[in-house]
Amino acid sequence: MDAKAMYRLSYGLFVLTARGDGSGVSDNGCIINTAQQVTTDPNQITIAVNKANYTHDLIMKNRQFNVSILSEAAGFDLFTRFGFQTGREHDKFAGFEGNFERSKNGIVYVTSGTNAFISADVVSTVDLGTHTLFISRVSDMDVLDEKTPSATYAYYQSNIKPRQQAPKKSAKTKTVWRCRICGYIYEGDELPADFICPVCKHGASDFERVEIEA
Ligand code: FE
Repeated sequence: MDAKAMYRLSYGLFVLTARGDGSGVSDNGCIINTAQQVTTDPNQITIAVNKANYTHDLIMKNRQFNVSILSEAAGFDLFTRFGFQTGREHDKFAGFEGNFERSKNGIVYVTSGTNAFISADVVSTVDLGTHTLFISRVSDMDVLDEKTPSATYAYYQSNIKPRQQAPKKSAKTKTVWRCRICGYIYEGDELPADFICPVCKHGASDFERVEIEA
């Protein structure tokens, strides 16, 4: 069995946004790769969201969200802003003025580095253990950029994520575990099977063994 088969599935990338619950930030968002249309009549989409994400809890409470579809114009800073910090401690929209708007449901959507957005109301949820699957009905949507293709996960890996420097030939090196998603480094011979990346929340299967400069 070759677990890399999973990398052959194609995914899009999205900023998932929800409104605050009054106890913290007024708006929050995170990056997901799990939005898809599942029926056209009625028009329904599903999203799967890691329970560790603050956005997950907000959608559980408010039952509404927006999905902004990331395009090939998205920079790595968008991923850093929405994917590699938590809305429990940071207002992810602070200093982001001019790059988002509010749709009819009152929830923000991202207008830069995206090519469309979809608003949806949660119809039902399925508990998947680490994640919740939200089955949702589309309430509004619009195209934001006619020309730029949507960013696939493969496009992110090869074009948006900064290239990791290979160690110089002469340099002293050490072998570490590196998160394929965000680049976080875990030092140690064995990566625990239940390890969760502290930065992007992906699991041990998204880590690879690499040599870096010591
Ligand atoms: Fe990571």
